[in-house]
Amino acid sequence: MAHDNALFRAAFAGGAMGMSVLDAHSQIVEANPALTAALGYSIDELEGQKLAAITHPDDVGRDSRVMDRLSRGVAQHIHTQRRLLRADGEVIWTRTTFSRVEGEPVRIIAQIEDLTETRRAQDLLEHRALHDNLTGLPNRVLLLDRLTVALESAHQHAACIFLDIDDFTLINDSLGHEAGDQLIMEVASRIESVSRPGDTVARLGGDEFVVIAPGVEDSESAIDYATQLQEAVNRPIPIDGHDISPTASAGISLTSRGDSAQGLLRDADVAMSSAKRTGRNRCEVFSEHMGHDAKMRLSVESELRAALREGQLEVHFQPVVNLITEEIRAFEALVRWRHPNRGLLLPDEFMGICEHANLVPQLGEIVLRDACRFLAERPHFDGRVLVNISTQQIGGAGLVEAVQEALAVTGVAPTQLALEITETGMLLPTTSTRAELAALDELGVDLLLDDFGTGYSALSSVLSSPVTGMKLAREFTCRLGDDSTGDRISTAISSLVNSLSMVGIIEGVETATQRDRAITHGWELGQGFLFGHPLPSSEISYGRVPAAS
Ligand code: C2E
Ligand code: MG
Ligand code: MG
Repeated sequence: MAHDNALFRAAFAGGAMGMSVLDAHSQIVEANPALTAALGYSIDELEGQKLAAITHPDDVGRDSRVMDRLSRGVAQHIHTQRRLLRADGEVIWTRTTFSRVEGEPVRIIAQIEDLTETRRAQDLLEHRALHDNLTGLPNRVLLLDRLTVALESAHQHAACIFLDIDDFTLINDSLGHEAGDQLIMEVASRIESVSRPGDTVARLGGDEFVVIAPGVEDSESAIDYATQLQEAVNRPIPIDGHDISPTASAGISLTSRGDSAQGLLRDADVAMSSAKRTGRNRCEVFSEHMGHDAKMRLSVESELRAALREGQLEVHFQPVVNLITEEIRAFEALVRWRHPNRGLLLPDEFMGICEHANLVPQLGEIVLRDACRFLAERPHFDGRVLVNISTQQIGGAGLVEAVQEALAVTGVAPTQLALEITETGMLLPTTSTRAELAALDELGVDLLLDDFGTGYSALSSVLSSPVTGMKLAREFTCRLGDDSTGDRISTAISSLVNSLSMVGIIEGVETATQRDRAITHGWELGQGFLFGHPLPSSEISYGRVPAAS
């Protein structure tokens, strides 16, 4: 006992974590140097104070319930996230563990860990990821999120209006990017001023804007609305001594049963392109038989069905390595389509159509099976294979069964398989997605968040899901070394990953300089052309990094 006490004393006096001893009335009996330093008070100022005196008012009520449960012996330890007030008035976020010490009088030890930096990184990421930097409008991710909500609210229909400024590149090239930015900001504020309360106005990047208008149900009212938006854009804008009267082409899609958010947005885009082709400043409503794009899509769709039947899809594998030793730790499975006339097609060229035609679950089964087969053929490889999963595969499309089937047929251990889910897949965690993710977790299959940083919404819902790792999106990797956003985001996410004891993989490493930066930022695992391109299984001999070509 005396020994225990000496150990406690040493940890209390010398530890880096803030600690205090409280009595049954939440009075601070003792505070350690780490805590006084973090709060900016002296020991004398803290000792004898009530805990409430240094606690954010909104968290005081919860504290008294915590103290009550500990004093009554209902619980031995209680973890909370709570805010403390520094002597200078700053609020700091903490993770605090209250522990009841055996015996009388009642003594409770509070261990206080500073989470402020982590919270700040979270807020930064959250805003950045959901908004357009220039206009502050919601971006594509947030737009799709809102659109999904609109589609799910059973009784209401909505119109999706896609606006694209005509000849924007001309303005941008002749007057310069600054003038271009100015124009975009002015157009954004005009669209917003015409929009109705409850609508979502988003910027998809470049000169593309989208308005989601719930309650606009028929083509006629949608066209009326789009025309008002176009007129607002038309009024002259003075830029750099020139009066510019921009025009915009508009495309409209209207919700009908069974639409996906992506599908609706794509239809509005097709309608907009069709409007643009037939002249400027026009507006069209999407119809299934619209122009070349839609026809192309339909023919590719039927080709894709045939490809799935006839085995034209194949899976390539790209190594994930330890950044320092370059030892291979995993492979990512990436699907390709060996098209009879067009050669080897990458996912960007057909995943969109695949999703639109609801063929993703079928494609997913092929990839899962090939990924497991890859492992089965390499019994001495103890790393993992990472398989990409689309949002459409989660929540009722038989993913758990498909995983079980692939594992059973090949005899591969579930712990060698990991699934990559994009953050958008986690945006709206419904009961069925949660159940499915939990079932996968139970099987022992790891879940990684893919392209992290680009589509991030509610970190809290991500963290409460069984996600065990994150992959940093390539768009940040290629900006490493900019001493700005690229480096900031990479450092923030790496420390987030490490503080949560998750697996972190940095994607798209192409140069030794990027690799070195990544190592400095604390990344352990990486993937990219520097270490190896995706290759067919037949060209990968176990344990050897395939030469970059
Ligand atoms: P992802 O999951 O983020 O995959 C990484 C992509 O980055 C791959 O493109 C890969 O070839 C590419 N890449 C890897 N290293 C580098 C690099 O150093 N530099 C550059 N510039 N690129 C690099 P890919 O194969 O074209 O796949 C694109 C996306 O398609 C994937 O992004 C993934 O979201 C999706 N995808 C691929 N396979 C599947 C699949 O089987 N199922 C589903 N649902 N989606 C898939
Ligand atoms: Mg991936
Ligand atoms: Mg990725």
